[in-house]
Amino acid sequence: MLSGLTTGNDRVALRFGAESLTYGELASVTGPIAAGLAGRTRVAVWATPTLRTCVAIVAALTAGIPVVPINPKAGSRELAHIVADSAPDLVLAEPDAALPPELDVLPRLPVESDVSGTPWRGDEPDPETPAFVIYTSGTTGPPKGVLLPRRAVASNLDALAEIWGWTGADVLVHALPLFHVHGLILGVVGPLRRGGSLCHLGRFSSEAAAKELAGEGTMLFGVPTMYHRLAADCEADPALAAGVGAARLLVSGSAALPATDHERITAATGQRVVERYGMTETLMNCGVRATGDRRPGAVGPPLPGVDLRLVDDDGVPFEAVDGETVGEIEVRGPNLFLGYLNRPDATEAALRDGWFRTGDMAVRDADGYVRIVGRRATDLIKSGGYKIGAGEIENALLDHPGVAEAAVTGEPDDDLGERIVAWIVPAEVKPTADELADHVASLLSPHKRPRVVHYLEALPRNEMGKVLKRALHG
Ligand code: ATP
Ligand code: MG
Repeated sequence: MLSGLTTGNDRVALRFGAESLTYGELASVTGPIAAGLAGRTRVAVWATPTLRTCVAIVAALTAGIPVVPINPKAGSRELAHIVADSAPDLVLAEPDAALPPELDVLPRLPVESDVSGTPWRGDEPDPETPAFVIYTSGTTGPPKGVLLPRRAVASNLDALAEIWGWTGADVLVHALPLFHVHGLILGVVGPLRRGGSLCHLGRFSSEAAAKELAGEGTMLFGVPTMYHRLAADCEADPALAAGVGAARLLVSGSAALPATDHERITAATGQRVVERYGMTETLMNCGVRATGDRRPGAVGPPLPGVDLRLVDDDGVPFEAVDGETVGEIEVRGPNLFLGYLNRPDATEAALRDGWFRTGDMAVRDADGYVRIVGRRATDLIKSGGYKIGAGEIENALLDHPGVAEAAVTGEPDDDLGERIVAWIVPAEVKPTADELADHVASLLSPHKRPRVVHYLEALPRNEMGKVLKRALHG
């Protein structure tokens, strides 16, 4: 699963600020912890963004014990749900971590990073055993525990390595949390599988990212909210822009990257951000190649080994590659999960003849590029007989100088079925509702004009920067 985890390997594996471990050191540190996990069935990891959290995860991975990463900032209800649902029999945490009562009752193995032990000598576990139980973001409902086998993790990371030319020479820079697939599987296991390095920034700042990319850092993994800040900061500071411009690859995912931010980053740094699309249940499904055409709003073709199809409302696959016909994405391949923990009903509902029903709507271009329109549940508005994707209207709104952030939803309307509602965080000069509606109509078409505009100080977002549309309508 992880290459290079042997004594004597001096390549830096993990760096968090001033703390780092080489592969040789990582092998010695994780050895005793892995040995201490023998006989456990599932371990919780208190996932603060630290070196020791990565040590805990590597130890459990080498011992073949499924890891449940826990968001240390999870609210009491979510935490209680995750702990009760996943029933870990041990918790791995930093020695001084103050754990909430739900976890404090469990046996605890403190994770330290003293280099003293000997590497783990166990066998490589079966590829079909779960490596992780990761909870979905809970954007559309309560988080579900996703059982991810080692096979899915390994094959998906190898597919990403192929499209991005990702090798042991790469130094990945990121500041993502360590309890979702983006920051954890792509961001931590990814570099370790390649024998390369992870440089974690702790907290995201454009300055820190630019400094690392100007130095040894080669790739940046971020979410759209980070690229939004990076765009503004690069525009304001040419030295910072030059640092970001030195990167080999900037990658965005977890939510749609607005076209305006994509273009602003290109204008300021010369870099064109590569987008990839995935989810907890399937890991990554699509991604733009390092050598591929990088278009705003496009997540690229399916990854090597991943089958992708679009189906209509009746679940019938269709072949149209006109960039216009919207269908739900279904995927199949070695990247798929084993099922949801304790939710056979949800697992059954999510699968159709071995295909995973993503709930995401998209169109396909003639060259196989996929463009995400939005989620079927929240982003597809049926208005006046049209099916309208929220993302397209959000991008049009963001194109207006008076709009800093935008989200679009539908609400019931006697006449239209649903009417388009825009939720705006205004920039310095607040545009009127009519002005915004006319702007959208002139860029797109009249039936896509928002009928209602709400002004907010900020959009409700989770820790990955995803807009929580459920929260908008209260
Ligand atoms: P829940 O399943 O609990 O409602 P969630 O779907 O947000 O939450 P994740 O598995 O973390 O949980 O997120 C996957 C979703 O994120 C995808 O289904 C898709 O809607 C969205 N997504 C990921 N990458 C992209 C992208 N590049 N562009 C647009 N949307 C994306
Ligand atoms: Mg989901």
